[in-house]
Amino acid sequence: MYHLIFVVKIKNNMRVCILGAGLSSITLAKALVNQNIYVDVLFHKKTIELNQTRTLGISKSNVKYFNSSIIDINKILWKLKKIKIFSDNLKNEKIIKFESQHDYLFSIIRNYELYKIIKKSLKNDKYFKEIHSLRNNFSDYYNLVINTDSNNFISKKLFSKKIVKKYNSFAYTTIINHKKIPNNTAYQIFTTRGPLAFLPISATETSVVYSVHNSNHEKKKIISDLIKKYNFKYQIQKIKKIEKFELKSLFLRSYYHNNILAFGDLLHKVHPLAGQGFNMTIRDLIILIDIIKNKISLGLPLDKSVNQEFERKLKHKNLIFSNGIDFVHEFFNLERKIHSNFLSKSIQILGKNSSINKFFTKVADKGIII
Ligand SMILES: Cc1cc2nc3c(=O)[nH]c(=O)nc-3n(C[C@H](O)[C@H](O)[C@H](O)COP(=O)(O)OP(=O)(O)OC[C@H]3O[C@@H](n4cnc5c(N)ncnc54)[C@H](O)[C@@H]3O)c2cc1C
Repeated sequence: MYHLIFVVKIKNNMRVCILGAGLSSITLAKALVNQNIYVDVLFHKKTIELNQTRTLGISKSNVKYFNSSIIDINKILWKLKKIKIFSDNLKNEKIIKFESQHDYLFSIIRNYELYKIIKKSLKNDKYFKEIHSLRNNFSDYYNLVINTDSNNFISKKLFSKKIVKKYNSFAYTTIINHKKIPNNTAYQIFTTRGPLAFLPISATETSVVYSVHNSNHEKKKIISDLIKKYNFKYQIQKIKKIEKFELKSLFLRSYYHNNILAFGDLLHKVHPLAGQGFNMTIRDLIILIDIIKNKISLGLPLDKSVNQEFERKLKHKNLIFSNGIDFVHEFFNLERKIHSNFLSKSIQILGKNSSINKFFTKVADKGIII
């Protein structure tokens, strides 16, 4: 009985501060307030305007976790049953196909819709507070400080050691409006200029992510012409505003400093060709919440030991996974440079093997399971 009272007391006194207010930050804030932990989120003074053309592919197992432990996102999802991959070098022959007969593989969601529903649910939560400045002794005041903002003074001081790779590429994102079709298949084409993905978000809209090599000075008109050239399915009515993002991968050498933990894209950034950046963050979040729940159930306070355990459990898996995505990028990049279809042909043969196909599908859904 005494033990029970003690546990509840500790749980109600836990305070976490999250620095930065992007998707990773507010998703984690929601997961923490669901555990009755007080969360202060440090917002920038200027309001965040989320890009309207950005979408996220979220894996099936991560959607399940979202719905059961963070917030129900079913009504803003568009479910995909198939993913088909092509290469310019194979003259439009399909390289590999991932398919779910009875269920779905992946879901597509608009970033700003996800942001909006999480933000709305946090607004009236008694455990949540939006703050605009940090108190002097903030790292002593909070049990844990979780940093998601790569531009703040803490990142510059404590999280500057990282492995960075610039791809000399830019990702162009947009949404195309088209005639109504059954739109449950995503397409990825490894074009001679880089990977181009068509990701359906409704029966009449499909989001496009085109990662183009050496395109720093490329005019957006050229990009929209390339999208039209490679489009073989949609009767396009309109191509919305095209946005541009520089592409790099990043891996932080140290995940934490005392009770301050790095999180989200600050911790790891990957090439968007596999749609895995935010999925990696959800997998990190699942582990972090698990560690925190365990500590609380044992009546232990949240302190730097949470960060130590988080790094120990995840760093090696995240490194293998990030390197795997980089390998896929380099693989098709090499083929692009040597103008051969030998590599695509080998994938085509491997992909027909159902065990290998299942293995890739599982890794994309759940990450590395060791
Ligand atoms: C083209 C592209 C496609 C992608 N597709 C996928 C996908 O399909 N699936 C997937 O899982 N991942 C995908 N990703 C990765 C995913 O978008 C990121 O992992 C995720 O958005 C990172 O969120 P974050 O909060 O960690 O970082 P950020 O969004 O960079 O936020 C970090 C910090 O920046 C600040 N900030 C962010 N936006 C603004 C703003 N507009 N104004 C002011 N401050 C701001 C925030 O306050 C925060 O402090 C993709 C990435 C790119 C570039």
